[in-house]
Amino acid sequence: MSTLRYISDSQRTSAGCSQRWFLSYGLGLVRPAKDKKPYLGILWSQIMHRLRDRYDDETLDDVLAWIDRAEKEHLDSRGQHFLTGVEETAEAFGEARRLLKRYVRYWKDRPNLGTVIFSERRLDSAVLTANGHPSTKTGWLGYLDKLVEINGDLWVVDHKSTSIPIADWREKNQDKPQGLTYAWLVRRAFPGRRVRGIIFDVAYTNQPRPWTSFEKINTGKRLRKPQGIPHTTADQWGRAIIKNGFGFHDTDKLDKGTGVTEAGFYITVGKALRRRDERNFWFHRIEIPITDENLARAERELYLEGTRIRLMRERVAPLRAKIKQKHEEGNPSGMAQAVSELCHKHGAEYPRNPSMCHQFNRKCDYASLCKHWSPEAAGRYVYKTYREDRNGDGATDTNEPDDAGNVVADSDGDDATEAPGTRTE
Ligand code: SF4
Repeated sequence: MSTLRYISDSQRTSAGCSQRWFLSYGLGLVRPAKDKKPYLGILWSQIMHRLRDRYDDETLDDVLAWIDRAEKEHLDSRGQHFLTGVEETAEAFGEARRLLKRYVRYWKDRPNLGTVIFSERRLDSAVLTANGHPSTKTGWLGYLDKLVEINGDLWVVDHKSTSIPIADWREKNQDKPQGLTYAWLVRRAFPGRRVRGIIFDVAYTNQPRPWTSFEKINTGKRLRKPQGIPHTTADQWGRAIIKNGFGFHDTDKLDKGTGVTEAGFYITVGKALRRRDERNFWFHRIEIPITDENLARAERELYLEGTRIRLMRERVAPLRAKIKQKHEEGNPSGMAQAVSELCHKHGAEYPRNPSMCHQFNRKCDYASLCKHWSPEAAGRYVYKTYREDRNGDGATDTNEPDDAGNVVADSDGDDATEAPGTRTE
């Protein structure tokens, strides 16, 4: 039986704020699953898993039927319950359906991802010491969306959805270490195979405006508007022109300032939209090649970071045991009291990092507890059962539900990062 303690990228991300790590992985606290909102990003990787890079009508219907079922049963892909009846639930499923249809339409006639080796799989490995020996204490694990083969080489595929423009998403995310970690795990799992790089398969979730939303604007008023193209596709724009009868009956109307005719304006905008559509504005597969040097560096970092986090886990284990005991006694108020006391006694050893409070552009799950350490705030959390609590193999698997099915996936895992004012999917 393995004695490795596994560390994940979610845990490494969480450790960016020591306080968050202490509350989450240290004491093992988590918001109850019923308080979790159904973010589109959580659905999206499951949708991609079911699509498996097939774009025929039958597969699309199957995946849409799965979305219907998941919505009806208020379950996400990992069997976690959403709050029923909340606005966000219908919103997320509705967005997922619309996005999927557009995604399939977009990729249908374009080259596919390659030969799928697997999708949705956990990979893990002992980290390697400086001598290249597998550690006997620390392992690293990751949940990969997909592994594909292209021209004999392996590529890690990571499906992402984001509500910021893809170019901005790329700028912010392409160098994050998670992709390299996955590539390293693949190299460990497929020795002798070349891991060529990472493909971020990104979908922009801000739906284009439908043709029905465009109204004819008074010529003079429109031409005074600043330059810029609307948030829609060339197809929707074309439909608006034809169905709403824009422009063509006014072809002789010239704007005195610009010399642009009414029809000329609509056609020019249509062409600009077409160019933008073709520039991977809505969907993009970003290829990030990796080198042996990249992987060697990642290997060293995983060893050092994994060891550091493992030691932290060992240090807090007696504290978590106290919380677990209260949890097992079925004593929520006693547990809240114990959390509050442990926070007052040890919390300052794990300093706050305010720069992470709005990571992924949503408020940190631990904001109220980190602020007050009060029993009232602590009472809003439940204990998160780790696999090591169940079978004693020392492994940590934070994405796996416990026996009661009440463990939620990491909220700070692999979501896309978004700009202020947008929501992380
Ligand atoms: S609210 Fe901010 S400081 Fe507090 S735990 Fe979360 S990230 Fe850390």
